[in-house]
Amino acid sequence: MSVQIKELIAAFEEVAPSVWQESYDNSGLIVGSYHDTVCKALLSLDCTEAVIEEAVKEGCDMVICHHPIVFKGLKRLNGANYVERTVMKAIQHKVAIYAVHTNLDNVLQGGVNAKIAEKLGLKDGKILDPKKGILNKIVIYVPEGHVLEVQEAAFQAGAGAIGHYQECGFSVTGRGTFKPVEGANPHTGTAGMRHEAQEIRWEVLVSEAITNRVLHAMMSKHPYEEVAYEIIPLKNEHLAVGSGLWGRLPEPMPVTDFLDFIKERLAVPQLKFTPLHVDREIKTVAVCGGSGSFLIPKARQTVDAYITADVKYHEFFDAEGTLLLCDIGHYESEKYTLEIFKEILWKKFPNFANIFAQINTNPVQYR
Ligand SMILES: [Zn+2]
Repeated sequence: MSVQIKELIAAFEEVAPSVWQESYDNSGLIVGSYHDTVCKALLSLDCTEAVIEEAVKEGCDMVICHHPIVFKGLKRLNGANYVERTVMKAIQHKVAIYAVHTNLDNVLQGGVNAKIAEKLGLKDGKILDPKKGILNKIVIYVPEGHVLEVQEAAFQAGAGAIGHYQECGFSVTGRGTFKPVEGANPHTGTAGMRHEAQEIRWEVLVSEAITNRVLHAMMSKHPYEEVAYEIIPLKNEHLAVGSGLWGRLPEPMPVTDFLDFIKERLAVPQLKFTPLHVDREIKTVAVCGGSGSFLIPKARQTVDAYITADVKYHEFFDAEGTLLLCDIGHYESEKYTLEIFKEILWKKFPNFANIFAQINTNPVQYR
């Protein structure tokens, strides 16, 4: 089965919209064209020369990876470093590269951290540090008798979701005025006369990522030629988008048991951790795949233990003796991300061929 690259990307965007990636990131289609079709994808955490070689060998015309191979601007492509060589090889062999990185880290449902939490069996997962400034309120003025249609269109497009509640909205009734002038083709009223109509002011919450889609859907059901609406940016936290995830262990666990539990559940050979009284019980756990030191203060306020990677020596002190801070390795913390790719593809394109890369791209070795 062949699929257009833009359709594949749309399936990933539904889970992790690219607008939710961090500013330093470069998630998205890195090599290839949106209108090309592909017939087999290689799923990998990183995209390296060896990964492209494996893709070619396996007949894959696309690599779907977590880490973007290109982060900074490329000024030349002469093979001077592994980034240039990887991109050159991909172009030469017509292998597309698509990366879904921090946008997949930042979602509560179906993201990198949800997968780690699933492996640990954490319950009641919540975002550890929710993002602010990515929610809008749409206010729209609709004549009576049309509000249900407009509401339905907005809900269908994904508006009005708050935590475990869907289809949240608020309305008040009032009177609107307008005077159609030359060139107008009004739904009601007479040209040159001020018209008064019973209207509903309807308000609904939308995330920035889908604001245009929702607005478009609402407009398509609104009877007026010129629709009065407002988009109001909110300072509220988006509880389903942000960094890290925390939840509850099914049963509290003594520290040493918990460390063994991590090694077993996440299949890590060893881990680094901060000293904590062995009699302490671990009830709540936060996770952040990849480099998560920036969340140590938040984790200290929220949970008993925090699992992440790339923790520097002095950052271990930031645990202040109250947090069991565990560094399990960057690759190790994110290796299950490939399962997410497979699930997203399976859900939308069950007949689209895809395989896990067999090459281990971890640049860190242990002995
Ligand atoms: Zn990473």
